[in-house]
Amino acid sequence: MNIKRTGGHVICTVKNETTVPFLSFPMLEDTGVTIHGFSTRLGGVSRDHLTSMNLSFSRGDKEENVRENFRRIGESIGFSCENLVFSDQTHTTNVRVITVEDRGKGFVKQRDYSDIDGTITNVPGLVLSTFYADCVPLFFVDPVKKAIGLSHSGWKGTVGKIGRVTVEKMTAEYGSDPKDIFAAIGPSICQDCYEVSEDVILQFRENYDPALWDSLFYKKANGKYQLNLWKANESVFLEAGIIKEHISITDICTCCNPEILYSHRASQGKRGNLAAFLALKTAPKQL
Ligand SMILES: [Zn+2]
Repeated sequence: MNIKRTGGHVICTVKNETTVPFLSFPMLEDTGVTIHGFSTRLGGVSRDHLTSMNLSFSRGDKEENVRENFRRIGESIGFSCENLVFSDQTHTTNVRVITVEDRGKGFVKQRDYSDIDGTITNVPGLVLSTFYADCVPLFFVDPVKKAIGLSHSGWKGTVGKIGRVTVEKMTAEYGSDPKDIFAAIGPSICQDCYEVSEDVILQFRENYDPALWDSLFYKKANGKYQLNLWKANESVFLEAGIIKEHISITDICTCCNPEILYSHRASQGKRGNLAAFLALKTAPKQL
């Protein structure tokens, strides 16, 4: 796969490249307690601008196609679809504690919650699932307390620091020490591709330390700005108490790779959804 990377060395690896590919962080794999993955456009059955691994039921695709796509990506990453639990993303900073009662919500039965951009759980087997086409996926793994979190952080979620909210909720619910948490910033739009207007930048100025501003955005001759959501979320992780050595930042931009990943910007909104998946491994049935 000819994927364009932003850095000199590989951070996100491509798995199952010749069948149903997905992207993976070695740092999260090495914790040994989770399965996780980020889908691509490849390996599915959807057509036209949704080609081919569309993971959205609400972007004009046939339901049977989307269900087959979920089955395929589940088989590739290693989960079964009845264990999926979906977010309900509306650019909030709301984080829901996912329990065994939530199993299947969004995929096999209706969600009975709304406006949920972040999810945490300590129940093995439940597959936290969030959806993307340029916004930033945030993965959290606490191998000590055996708890995980997965949050959707677009510019609004990044202004609201949903990454910190997620860590605080893991601490409150599961006793997680931020120093034990491994965190990853998933494939999403890079600074070179992400032009925003001044009203967005004003909100970043209000919520972020002025010492960080130069590393987060710069102004261009046309009066617009280029915003670095990866750097912003890294600073949110550090503020939440996660240590630098436990942070992995993607080297893959959705908008730089429109043939491999859905990008809202690159497609001007004509696109399917990518998904991030994160689950705690279940205990082996027999040893
Ligand atoms: Zn880019």
